[in-house]
Amino acid sequence: MAQLRESLSQEARDERNQQRQLERRETRRFIVNRRRGIDQQRQQLLRAFTSDSFLRLAFQYEPDVEYYAHSKVVIGSLDKECPHCHALEFKNEPVGMCCSSGKVQLTEIETPPEPLHGLLIGTDPDSSLFLKSIRTFNSCFQMTSFGATEIVNNIAANGQQFNSTFKIKGQIYHKVGSLLPMPNESHK
Ligand SMILES: [Zn+2]
Repeated sequence: MAQLRESLSQEARDERNQQRQLERRETRRFIVNRRRGIDQQRQQLLRAFTSDSFLRLAFQYEPDVEYYAHSKVVIGSLDKECPHCHALEFKNEPVGMCCSSGKVQLTEIETPPEPLHGLLIGTDPDSSLFLKSIRTFNSCFQMTSFGATEIVNNIAANGQQFNSTFKIKGQIYHKVGSLLPMPNESHK
């Protein structure tokens, strides 16, 4: 019995060893294949990157590829100066983007009326609060007044005037006037 048990356990041990060896071989093959796959993918990516083809490149993003250094990506520094309006530009910016090569000349910005000027330049006692909350103030007052040079009304069958649509032509800008119309004038 003892002999039989010994031979059986020997057989079992051999089988187990064989099984383990097989598993180890499988694992090694899996790792090698995976590495090969990753290498191939990387090479494909690098080839695409160096041949300037960015098609679907983001789907194969590799964190250690220096995308930012590619000649198509580098925009340089903002150090080219327009000879007409002296705006600063990047080296590949199309000519005339700023002032249409000197054709557009803006008038000087007028000094804003008081108390706005004082609030802006810091001479008004409320200036620091004003400048700190300037975006909030701007948001509060945007669209409070909408001016137009020509307002066309429709006339209903009962003779009443109404605006069926709101059409805009030309340039839009916000200029806050008085909230109420002047005496004997209509709302604008
Ligand atoms: Zn310019």
